[in-house]
Amino acid sequence: MAECVVEDRTSYEENRGFLEQAAADYQAASAAMSWYTLPRVPRGTPHRVVAGSLTKAQLTSLYTDRMVGTSGGARRIYDEIQVAANGDCPFCGGVGHVFTLDHYLPKSSFPLFSVLPANLVPCCRDCNTGKSATFGTTAEQQPLHPYLDDPKLFNQRWVRARLVPSDPIGVLFYCAAPAAWSPTEQARVASHFTDYDLANRYRKLAGAEINKVVGQRRGTLRGMSPGGFHEYLLEAASEPGYDLNGWNRTTYAALADTEWFWRGGPL
Ligand SMILES: [Zn+2]
Repeated sequence: MAECVVEDRTSYEENRGFLEQAAADYQAASAAMSWYTLPRVPRGTPHRVVAGSLTKAQLTSLYTDRMVGTSGGARRIYDEIQVAANGDCPFCGGVGHVFTLDHYLPKSSFPLFSVLPANLVPCCRDCNTGKSATFGTTAEQQPLHPYLDDPKLFNQRWVRARLVPSDPIGVLFYCAAPAAWSPTEQARVASHFTDYDLANRYRKLAGAEINKVVGQRRGTLRGMSPGGFHEYLLEAASEPGYDLNGWNRTTYAALADTEWFWRGGPL
C-alpha cells in the first residue's frame, strides 16, 4: 500500500508540468468565460491518459483520497474553500447551506481539473444533486461560476418577482436579464435560473416571508401609514446582507413595487 502511494507521488511529480499547464489553461478560459472550450474526455473512461502519463482515474482519486479524505494532505485546502462561503451556497443565493464542494467543470468529463482549487466551489446538497453531471458544450449553456465570472452577472439585477393577488398571496419569480447584456450573457443567466430550479426554490421561501410581513403589518406595524410601510419595504429590499439576485431581496423589491400590497388592500 505504502509502495503504491510512493509510486503515485512520483508520477504526479513527473507530470507536474502538465498539471501546471492545465491550471494556466483554466485561468485563461476564466478570463474569457469560455470554460466549455477546455479539453474533456468521455465519461466512464478511467484508463484514459489525460496529463503526461497520468490517467483520469489517478487524477480523480487524487481528489477523493487526498482532498476529501480527512487524512489527506490537501484536506486543509478543501476545508478552506468550504469555509470561504460563510455557509451560504453561492449557486442558489443561499437558499441552501454549504454541504460539499462542487466541481464547476465536472471531474467525470474534465478530470484535468479534479484538484484545481479554482474549479472547486462550495455548494449545498440540492444544487449539487440537482445539477446535471454534463457540462454544456456552448458558451450559452455554461452555468455561472460564482467566483470567476463577469462581476456584472452578480452586481446587476436579473432575478425579479411578481405578486399574485390570491389568498395567501402568491409570488412568481422570473429571469429578466438587462437588455444591454449580450445574447450569450442573457442565455447564461436564464439557463442558470432553470438548471438550479430557482423559481420553485425561491417561491417556497418567499411565501413564508410574505406571511411574516403580513402578520407584522397586522400587528406591530399596524399604526404605520401606507407611505411609511412602503418605505419600510424599500429599506428591507436594500438590506446589504442580501444577495442582489437572492430570494429575500427580490421578494421585498416585489412587495415594495406592488402598490395594492403596501396600500393595505389585501391586509
Ligand atoms: Zn445551492
